[in-house]
Amino acid sequence: VREPLNQARATTGSSRRALSAAPEGTVRRPARRPSPRGENLARALRCIADGDGEVSRADISARTALNRSTSGSLVDELISAGLVREVGIKVRSTAGRPPTSLALVDAGPAGLGIEVNVDHLATCVVDLAGNPRYRRVVTADQRGRDPRDVLRSAMALGAAAVHEAEEIGLEPQGMTLAVPGLVDVDRARVVLAPNLGWHDLTVGAQLDPVELGLPPDAVVTLENEANCAALSERRLLRSRTSFLYVHAGIGVGSALVLRGELHRGRNGWSGEVGHLTVEHDGPACGCGGRGCLEQYAGQEAVLRAAGLPSPVPGTSTGPGAVSELVKERVDGGDPRMLEAVGRAGRAVGLAVAQALNLLDIELVVLGGIYYDLGPLILPVVRAEVASRYAGARWAPPRIVTAVHGLDAPALGAARSVVQRIIDDPSDWLDAADPHRR
Ligand SMILES: [Zn+2]
Repeated sequence: VREPLNQARATTGSSRRALSAAPEGTVRRPARRPSPRGENLARALRCIADGDGEVSRADISARTALNRSTSGSLVDELISAGLVREVGIKVRSTAGRPPTSLALVDAGPAGLGIEVNVDHLATCVVDLAGNPRYRRVVTADQRGRDPRDVLRSAMALGAAAVHEAEEIGLEPQGMTLAVPGLVDVDRARVVLAPNLGWHDLTVGAQLDPVELGLPPDAVVTLENEANCAALSERRLLRSRTSFLYVHAGIGVGSALVLRGELHRGRNGWSGEVGHLTVEHDGPACGCGGRGCLEQYAGQEAVLRAAGLPSPVPGTSTGPGAVSELVKERVDGGDPRMLEAVGRAGRAVGLAVAQALNLLDIELVVLGGIYYDLGPLILPVVRAEVASRYAGARWAPPRIVTAVHGLDAPALGAARSVVQRIIDDPSDWLDAADPHRR
């Protein structure tokens, strides 16, 4: 089924044809409203995606308020298009024919995520259900390299990931590139990535889907790293929770999710908690400001404050990860490291308390290096928030560590690709059957 499907996708779909005619240097994005049929397909598919293999045709009818024959035929369409499979008989106690459980396919359509970060590059391929099936991290400092060379390395890793994915029956249908900074998603431009030293950099021309081994009309897009990391929190997104996600490495990025949706702001730059001022005349920051959170709570800031030599040893992830070094020194009772971690925690708490005073949301998720440093940093952050967030006594916010660590951005980036199929499967179905249009 897979090959004819791909051929069909390459030659059909009016929206796709229009998108591939986009001018050089811009990202091809779908920009159409789903039809009523498309919306119903999406509702049924979302139901199956959220059901984790425990949902039947009758459940879909009940949950979507579509009648049984409509939901049944939607499911049949989704199965014949290769998005859904029957996974077995659902156990139940009542009499009658037992219903069949449905799940997303575990082969075929997939998503590729690539992360360019300051001291590592990462790739991840997820299947349609968002499960990571391939991951690779290359730790190497990217500072001082020509951005074009960095992107070439990232694209080569991405192409290798697509190749490996195909070996296990997956076909990535698009790519999202996660970058630690302000990005202009529509123009595929990195506006400012202070820790990489990048600014005003148009990258669209370098993100060629064919070079990655993707279908020529595949959607390739750019996204902020912390936004991608937040998209890895599947349970919170499904439950439509509002949360602030803080992702720390060398920089400190952040994403604001309101009722399960990323809140991007006017330019897509919202949630830059890392550049909230925690000390008026503090150290200069790559963003042009002074005393920003990341100058206190980023990994190199912590190491510097602990008196470690410059350039600071260690990387965010991989062997010799900074978090291991920090934990070792804390366990050994190193007073300077204890103070550096405490200072970082107080700075995060101060910034988070300000965000909570502004936003009144229920949950803060700490990710990136804070995933590993949670036991050290969480109590300090919680205490700081309790003393500075005005509503803390009446509605204490939950402050937790993330489900995924430094692998979250590439994972969330890959999931954003398959999410597009889940949100609008009709595009996929029409491509699978061009005569039905
Ligand atoms: Zn800053």
